[in-house]
Amino acid sequence: MQKLWSEWENVKKRMGKKALMLFLDYDGTLTPIVSRPELAILSAETRGLLRELSENESCKIAIISGRALSDVKEKVGLENLVYVGNHGLEIEGPKLKHVFFEFDEFRAILDKVKTELAYVLSVFKGSFIEDKGLSLSLHFRMVSPGKLIALRTAVREALVHHVARNRIRVKRGKMVFEIRPPINWNKGKVVLWLLARWEFVFAGKKAIPVYIGDDATDEDAFTALKGKGLTIFVGKPGDQTAAQYYLKDQNQVLVFLRKILTEKADDEKKTL
Ligand SMILES: [Mg+2]
Repeated sequence: MQKLWSEWENVKKRMGKKALMLFLDYDGTLTPIVSRPELAILSAETRGLLRELSENESCKIAIISGRALSDVKEKVGLENLVYVGNHGLEIEGPKLKHVFFEFDEFRAILDKVKTELAYVLSVFKGSFIEDKGLSLSLHFRMVSPGKLIALRTAVREALVHHVARNRIRVKRGKMVFEIRPPINWNKGKVVLWLLARWEFVFAGKKAIPVYIGDDATDEDAFTALKGKGLTIFVGKPGDQTAAQYYLKDQNQVLVFLRKILTEKADDEKKTL
């Protein structure tokens, strides 16, 4: 993995005058990681940049989040963007609305798991469950460090029989367990689905996907886009990731977005 800025000339060359298909994670990528999910607020500056980029004809943007779709859509608050919620299970955008999973049966399972987990978690102060309709997030960022091993063991014991019966899938994120439907669908799959759709929309115009994300669930997308586009991890150079490049924090993501906006504006001037 290389620092994006030390490869900037190459990256610029790879993007060239191609249309950009920009896939952006929300938490930890566009906003800093915070103690509670509702505190992750998008800055006016980032929103302004996203708006300008989305108004550019040769740029498409999708926000790809583990949050519920309605939640991330409200947090970003821009039209003209595609929103993907629940790690790819639900998608909505201009002329687009789709849920990739049949809901009823699984909701009953989630309710059961939620009740069982609430019981287990009652002794771990600071932990809480976020219900995202199609999935649950079990947050433990605020649990005291000395209790974390006991928490993980208790959660594993509570979930293992559901996992063994293929009723749910569990994935670890940053101080969170994601409890999802037992299907092989993730951020990587949804990115490829959207990519095929956008390639059709761009109708022959050359386009390149760019994916930026910071967490374990973004790795599916980094892997899916290998050899197809630019993959950028937000974090430290030593972190394990399938991405090609890294940016060290959300401010650097902002700098990157500003730079590509400038590049796109220059392209437009040259074609006038
Ligand atoms: Mg993230």
